[in-house]
This record gives sequence, structure tokens and C-alpha cells, in this order.
Amino acid sequence: MPKTAIVSVYNKTGLLDLAKGLNRNNVRILASGGTAKMIREAGFPVDDVSSITKAPEMLGGRVKTLHPAVHGGILATDSERDQKDLADQGIEYVDFVVCNLYPFKETVAKINVTIPEAVEEIDIGGVTLLRAAAKNHDRVTILSEPSDYAAFLNELDNGDISKETRQKLALKAFEQTSEYDTAISDFFRKQYAENESQLTLRYGINPHQRPAQAFVSSGKLPFKILGGSPGYVNLLDALNAWQLVKELKQALDLPAAASFKHVSPAGAAVGLPLSAEEKQVYHVADLKCELTPLASAYARARGADRMSSFGDFIAVSDEVDLATASIIGKEVSDGIIAPGYSAEALEILGKKKGGKYCILQIDEDYQPPVLEQRQVFGVTLEQKRNDAKFSKASFNEIVSQNKELSEQAIIDLTVATIATKYTQSNSVCYAKNGMTVGLGAGQQSRIHCTRLAGDKADNWWLRFHPKVLGFKWAKGTKRADKSNAIDLYVSNQVPTSGSELEDFNSKFESVPELLTPKEREEWHAKLTDVALASDAFFPFSDNVYRAARSGVKYVYAPLGSVQDKQVLEAADGQGMVYIDNPIRLFHH
Ligand code: 5GP
Repeated sequence: MPKTAIVSVYNKTGLLDLAKGLNRNNVRILASGGTAKMIREAGFPVDDVSSITKAPEMLGGRVKTLHPAVHGGILATDSERDQKDLADQGIEYVDFVVCNLYPFKETVAKINVTIPEAVEEIDIGGVTLLRAAAKNHDRVTILSEPSDYAAFLNELDNGDISKETRQKLALKAFEQTSEYDTAISDFFRKQYAENESQLTLRYGINPHQRPAQAFVSSGKLPFKILGGSPGYVNLLDALNAWQLVKELKQALDLPAAASFKHVSPAGAAVGLPLSAEEKQVYHVADLKCELTPLASAYARARGADRMSSFGDFIAVSDEVDLATASIIGKEVSDGIIAPGYSAEALEILGKKKGGKYCILQIDEDYQPPVLEQRQVFGVTLEQKRNDAKFSKASFNEIVSQNKELSEQAIIDLTVATIATKYTQSNSVCYAKNGMTVGLGAGQQSRIHCTRLAGDKADNWWLRFHPKVLGFKWAKGTKRADKSNAIDLYVSNQVPTSGSELEDFNSKFESVPELLTPKEREEWHAKLTDVALASDAFFPFSDNVYRAARSGVKYVYAPLGSVQDKQVLEAADGQGMVYIDNPIRLFHH
């Protein structure tokens, strides 16, 4: 029995070579209007699809191949039932389908394309041909790309199309229909659901990376924009920071806050009350209203590393109140994500950045899909979300001799652990008083992380030194300038001469005396009971020694290093409580 091919192609590249090859192999060609015309004009035998459908192409081409004579012939199997159906209807087998689709993507890429123009480019029959033939690939071969014609003809010249070829071609067809549908929904999402399930962004990570957008492929975006317009990096920060504070609140049942920069926390904390000194160090002593627990959480998160938090994206676990908004109102910040805002808070935040402050309201009940995807260099990576949960009960695998964990230590370990979960790896976090006090992010070497975070913790602690608390600022010195000057001072980098020194001195009413090495050492010795979390195991004991120098007493880190024994011996030598975290927490 001679075989039959249905050919309906928009892109007619290679069509005549294909027709020639099919003809050479005695295959009957049935083609749609434009395709048949081209083959016919080249002098090859071809029949119109309408010769089997007995129906003309209609609706200006909207219906060409949509007919039981076509799809019955493609979809029929060798089963008795199907054979009877075909015989009853006088339908013959279709063996090969050659089809490529209207160029929807190219059309909608044109500037100012109208919806009717786009609608006309939605291929219906072609997609149906592709899906039908791909579905029945057990018997039918589907050619959806001109580049596959030559190999196909080669196989045909040598007999028949192998099962393997049919499988590969079917997969390609399924991928094409899927990509086609993705392009269509992308277009209509932008038309019909902008700011609902789709958000056009000014640009991507950098200004030259355009176009850019955020979207969900089903349902609505989990946040509403109450002010400003978020950028790509804002959303990276916001969506990571929100998860952090949500989990921190769930774990400790305390309001939580995070201050993000470059997709890592600069600080994260829960709302424990602040001492008078803490209020001064975190620059909230001048606040007119009382600190609420949520405001305390943000004061701590923002105060942890004031240098890094400059221009932060904030997340808080609860409705933003007046006190929290009042702190934010005084700081340089890019935006905030929260489950809600009081009217007074919204008024304060709405005035920031000349009314352009980014204010997002997250849907607290939103649950993301279990699987998450990203693309790098055109390759899609897919994984189950990191849904590891931590609670006060997580710290039970104590592997050190010292097994005494205080209630405060458990709070601090929880803060440090959940912070590392949302910090670019490698990460090590030191925490105390319900807040991160030193975070080392994105270092390739773990000891570099431990040192970086330890140095930050040391600087944090030195900010409480009586000499720093006693600074006499020059009138009019701005908050950020104060933070910069304090950072130079505590990190022992006060300039020694020239305009840099003049600039430093100009911030003070009376220039402070530097800390002596002895003063530093004595103050340092008072930093104790610090908790530490590491997103993966310590490969060498040097990490333990470095952590101990910054007062670390509690460590939560995975085991698994070949040097575990030495690491634990070092921890025991320092009297530390070392707890195995069975879950590695890399984050990228
Ligand atoms: P031709 O140039 O042969 O007239 O049309 C080829 C194009 O029509 C192909 O891109 C094919 O996917 C598409 N096509 C085939 N059958 C149908 C149909 O029934 N309806 C629509 N809208 N397009 C079809």
C-alpha cells in the first residue's frame, strides 16, 4: 500500500526537496493551500487536503486541515476498533505529517502589534497536526523542522522510518507546541493580566538587560504593589527576604524583620526588646514613639550591619505599624515587603523617595509550587524548593561534650540558621540577642566566610564600646555619615593624614581618641555566648578557632567533613556546644 504524507508548512524552506524525496519513494502528498500550490508549481504530484475532507478551506484559512478524514487518518492505530472506524468512514491511514507553525513569536515581537494581528497568527490546525502525529508516533512520523527532512528522506530511501527516529521527532513536536503555547500565554498575560499575574520591569539585573518581567504561569502574583515600582533585584531581595521572616516568625513565634542587599541579608532579627545602649547603637534612641516588637525586630535587623544595610530592601513578618515605619522613614532604603500596613505607616512610607518608595504587600497564604526552575545560559535547571523547616526542636543532635543550651542560645541559633538559608553561599552567620551580628556571604572558602562574619561580629560589638557610645558628633552630621565614621573607627581604619582625615574629623564636635590595642582586647574578651550557623560543614578546625575568637559558644553546622574529629576536638577544647544540622543549606 503506498504511504500518505500530509504537508502543511508555513516555513517552506526545503519543501521542494522534501516533495521530490517523497515522490521518489512513491508517497502520496496531501497538502494545504499555499503548500500544495508551491509543490504543484514545481511540477511534483500533489493533492489538496480538501480532496479527502471533501470540504474547502474556509474562514480565510482558519479551518484547513481540521477534519476527521485528516485526524482519523493520523490518530488511528492498528487495533480492530480503529480499523473498523476507518473502513466505516472511508478514511485512509496518514503515515507522515510535515508541519511547522505560523510565526506567532515573530509577529508579537513587532512593536505596536495589535491583538487582532496576534490572534490571526495563532495556529490551530498546525498545532493539532503536530500533537496528533506526535501522540501516535508509534506509527506516524512527524516532521516539524526543515532541518530534519534530509535525514528522514535518507531513512525512507533505505526502507522505513525507525522507531527511534519517530520517538525523537515526536518529542521535538511536543516541545514545539509547548513553546508555542508558552509564547501565546506570555502575550495575552501582558495584554489581559498586567499587574495581576504579570509585571513588566524597567530592566533586569542591569539597565541594559531589557526587556524584563516577572510573572506566574497560573494564578496571580503573590504580592500587590502599593507604592513605587519594583525592579528585578528588588524582587529577588523581596521574595527571599519574605521567606526568611515568615519562617523566623513561625519558628520562634516572635515578629521578625530582615534587611536585604544583593540577595543576602545584611541583617535579620526577631523582636526582642532593646536596651538603652542598643537603641543608641542602632540609631533608634531619637524615635518619638515607643518601639513595638516589630519595630524592635527591624531596629535590630537594620542595626546589625548598618554599612551593608544602606539602601536595603526590607521584609517584616507582620503588619507595618507606626513605630516600624518611623524607623524606616529615617533610613535610606529601597523598598519593603510586608503582609500589611497600618494607614499611618503607609502614609510615612508613601512619602519616601519622593513618593517612589517600593511598597509591596505579600499574600501571607501564598504557597509556591514544589518544583522551581531557573535558566542559565539557555539551560533550565529544576529542583524541589528548599522547604527545610527549622524550629526550637531542631537543635537536638548535640555532638560536643558540653550539651547546655540556653533558651537565648536556641533563639540565636534559629536566627542564624534561617538567615544562612537565605544567604548566598558559602555562608556563615553569627547571632546574639535575637539578631544576626555578623554574616559572611558568597565566599568560596569557608574559613574566609567565618573570618568575614567574625570580623563583622567584632565590629558590631565594638560599636557598644563606651568610647563609641560617647562620640560627640558635629551638628548636622547625617545618619549614614555617622555609620561610616563609626565603621572606620571600630575597624581600625581611621585615616592618618590629608583630606581623608579632615573629612573624618569634620563629623565630630570633638574628635575621639582611637581605641588602644589593649582596650580592644579587653572589650573583645567580653563578647561571649555568640551562636553560629554554617550552611555546610567546617572542613577544618581553623573555623572553630576563628569563631571562638569572636565569642562563639554555640555552633549549628552539618557534619560530614573528613576532619570532623579534629573539628569536634577543637570545639570541645573551647567548651562549645556543637550541634549537627543534618541539612545542608546552600543557597544560590
Ligand atoms: P499553507 O501555506 O499550506 O496554506 O498553510 C500552512 C500553515 O497552515 C501551517 O503553518 C499550518 O500549521 C497551518 N494550518 C494547517 N491546518 C490549519 C487549520 O486547520 N487551521 C489553521 N488556523 N492553520 C492551519
